[in-house]
Parts: sequence; structure tokens; C-alpha cells
Amino acid sequence: MIKFSLRCIQGHAFESWFQSGPAFDGLRERGLVTCPSCGSSEVSKALMAPSVSPARKAPTPEMREKLAALRAEIEANTDYVGERFAEEARAMYLGDIPDRPIHGEARLEDAKALLEDGIPVLPLPFLPSRKAN
Ligand SMILES: [Zn+2]
Repeated sequence: MIKFSLRCIQGHAFESWFQSGPAFDGLRERGLVTCPSCGSSEVSKALMAPSVSPARKAPTPEMREKLAALRAEIEANTDYVGERFAEEARAMYLGDIPDRPIHGEARLEDAKALLEDGIPVLPLPFLPSRKAN
């Protein structure tokens, strides 16, 4: 796993974990790497400033609003599968069940195993609000 500092087209900086550089490129090409602040998929690896380490800024009300909108959109358009996430993602990838957009919870090792098998998964910039049934 590798952590990249990323920046969206609107200049929001954020960080995310990926299996590898090529895995990041593949996800980005498919528009699956999105800015947690504005949801833009126009993201690129940020250039690192060698000597400056600005204090992490607290989210502004505007950022919170966008994050809330992104969360609402994801929750409205994808099925919440709770802790069955890894199992369901793998079954879809293998064609055992029909494809559908899902979100849920996965342990880090499960997420890593999915990525190692070439199954695209992404961390959400928030915790799901609903509990598994
Ligand atoms: Zn952004």
C-alpha cells in the first residue's frame, strides 16, 4: 500500500492509500479517485513542497457541506452492505452476483486483499451512517 498526496483541479489537497502507482493511475483513469471536498475526479498527484508543512486546516463550513452532499449522494445511489462489503465486492467481480454500486465497511486486510486481486475499491472520506441490518 502506498499513500499519495493528491490535489484536485480546484486545488483541494488530500491524501489517499493505493495498492501501487499503477493502481492509482487505473482508478484515476476510470474517474474513481475523487476529491473529498468537491467530488471532482480531476485529481493529480500533488507536488510536495520540501520544507513547508502547513498545519492541517479544520474543514470549513463549505467543505462540510460538500462532504455531506457527497455522502448523501453515495448513500442514495449505492446499496449499504455493511460488513459484507468485501464478500459482495468479490462476488460481483467474479460474476457470482449482478454488479451494483455498493458501500460498506471492510477491514484494512480485506480491502488490501481485494486490491491485490485487482478489484477496485476506494476508501470513503467518511464512515457510513447506517448500521448493517
Ligand atoms: Zn476538490
